[in-house]
Amino acid sequence: MSARVRMSELSWVEVERRLARDAIVIVPVGSLEQHGHHLPLGVDTFLATAIAERGALRIAALVAPVIPYGYKSQPRTGGGDHFPGTTGLDGATLTGIVRDVVRELARHGAKRIAIVDGHYENEMFLTEGVDLAIRELRRDGLDDTRVVKLRYFEDVPEETIRLLWPDNYPGMALEHAALMETSMMLHVAPELVDLAIAPDEPSALFPGYDVYPPDRSLVPPSGALSSPGRATAQFGEHLVETFVDAVTTALTRGLA
Ligand code: ZN
Ligand code: MN
Repeated sequence: MSARVRMSELSWVEVERRLARDAIVIVPVGSLEQHGHHLPLGVDTFLATAIAERGALRIAALVAPVIPYGYKSQPRTGGGDHFPGTTGLDGATLTGIVRDVVRELARHGAKRIAIVDGHYENEMFLTEGVDLAIRELRRDGLDDTRVVKLRYFEDVPEETIRLLWPDNYPGMALEHAALMETSMMLHVAPELVDLAIAPDEPSALFPGYDVYPPDRSLVPPSGALSSPGRATAQFGEHLVETFVDAVTTALTRGLA
């Protein structure tokens, strides 16, 4: 088994060979979105890709090129789209990209496909893309394609919550550019993190509803939704290993 998992680095012959062995094909999906002062715009893309590639090595899967744009950043989960560089797709565009990629993979014989999402706001547009692809494939007579879709951070084990947030866990929606993502970036791509300028603001407090256009005064000025202050590469390694375990387990069970 070759250690190469990126589809873009393989020949068609090799892809054909691995699909004939029923390899799972993982499609990571990220975003180009502000992540505070201390992290780059590509965090969701880098982390979804890192987890997909590490997981693929374990289960002999292939990894398709990441979809590097996501649905529009929302204030309560990503800070919102007013930060320079934050570049969101319309829902129909993201849906269409996912639909096309899933259909094309299936057309060439991938029967087990996984969408590994790194960006909160993508969720239902990925669902819609998968649903439309499966409908189209059925109409074309291909009815044995199965897809698992998950956020890599979907399941955070209790022991991880106790380790990282012994006092209070702000919840995953506020973990934007905060302890979790910052720690993982320190493990995966430390050269892209500048902890010296990490904000130390209190967690954002949002009401339980959205207003359009958004009220920017509710979003912390830095764009981080809770504090990354205690981030370490060791936490990052723990989180990456935990999520690679969770994702590979989900894929092997969901696509058994
Ligand atoms: Zn993020
Ligand atoms: Mn995001």
